Amino acid sequence: MKPIDYAKVYSALARHAAGIDAFEIIPIPELSHPLAHTLEALKQGLIPEQYRWTEEKTRQVYTYNKFQGWAQSIIVAAKYYFTDEEYPDTGGYIPIDTAAKAAAKTPAAPHSGHAKRPYGRIARFTWRNNYRFLVQSLRNMVSGIERDLDVSIRFKALSNYTSIPEKLLVAYSGLAVFGRNSVLLHENMGSRFVIGELLTDLFVDFTALAPGFPATPAAPDFAKCGDCTKCIDACPTGALLGEGRIDVTRCYQYLSENLVFVPHAYRSAWGNRLYGCSTCVDVCPYNSELAPNGEKHHIGHVGTGEDLINLLLYTEEQWGERFKDNQIIIRDRLAIIKNAMLCLGNYPSEEALDQLLSFLSHSSPTIRQYAAWALGKLGGMKSRKALERRLKEEEQASVRNEIERML
Ligand code: SF4
Ligand code: SF4
Repeated sequence: MKPIDYAKVYSALARHAAGIDAFEIIPIPELSHPLAHTLEALKQGLIPEQYRWTEEKTRQVYTYNKFQGWAQSIIVAAKYYFTDEEYPDTGGYIPIDTAAKAAAKTPAAPHSGHAKRPYGRIARFTWRNNYRFLVQSLRNMVSGIERDLDVSIRFKALSNYTSIPEKLLVAYSGLAVFGRNSVLLHENMGSRFVIGELLTDLFVDFTALAPGFPATPAAPDFAKCGDCTKCIDACPTGALLGEGRIDVTRCYQYLSENLVFVPHAYRSAWGNRLYGCSTCVDVCPYNSELAPNGEKHHIGHVGTGEDLINLLLYTEEQWGERFKDNQIIIRDRLAIIKNAMLCLGNYPSEEALDQLLSFLSHSSPTIRQYAAWALGKLGGMKSRKALERRLKEEEQASVRNEIERML
């Protein structure tokens, strides 16, 4: 096939970029340097075992194993998500009338009789499913450029996908650069955007471009960060190790996605994170004056968070309805319940007592452990008696230890 001139392809892409806030097209880059970097992080135990990120898998990802043989070029794309919506809670609680209003839109009904209810926050980038939105926009882009260029394109549209090094490809394209928090920074969007890719068999002629495009992948220089270390200083668990290195095993994002043990030292700073963490993004100066004009689309829209007592009352069916089409739905429900109990330990409520008591005899020892912690934080005679009773019958050492710690 005769290669198509870059400028012609780029113009076609621009004509069909509805829903996409920035894009670029690049040849498939060779990634031996970042591959070595990731293998080193793996060796140092900075990537949790749960990710099953073996050396073999790492090599496959960095050599595009799944797309070898047909993919010729990649369109990288970004979707800006910053809107003017805000969290409704102050100090971890929402007024009861706010809770009642929110509950009217969700399946479970609120209790009454208390002035405020504990509230769990969902990280801003998860308020909607921007990944799915972007994939849909990329698919639409394909049909448009097929018409304009009079070609038939083989493609794969991806977003939030672990079988290719997504962030590296965007950095390689020059669309954004790495910040010290290992999140990408864009000139106009700060780091409030998600990314996606379109792998295609489009044979593009890049030779007419200025020398240096696309840039050769190298270690990020953090030039845009200058001397700033705000994200490193603000990270509650010290997960940011400097120069873009991150100890994922300590990161709240990872800890909130999985049913894992959260060390006691990290629990009070957990605050009321129901899902995700964006502290290292929130403090970045590049995000402080962004226009709040991100698209308020409805794909997987779950809002800013959830009344925690409601959340613990959901049936399986109500849960499915509440988080339908959002990325939270792919997570283990117990991981999110664990997060809710961490929030309730930090922001206790008498109204949560019954739910916490029922989780104290849950079949999962990990859940029993968090219930014991939250009950201990709630305090009071009923909690204490329940913990003492449980201790008599509990066989799991980790749960016994937690109960003894809280009594
Ligand atoms: S997401 Fe949160 S815990 Fe993870 S590195 Fe950023 S600030 Fe630290
Ligand atoms: S907070 Fe500072 S160091 Fe961190 S990514 Fe932003 S500019 Fe870079």
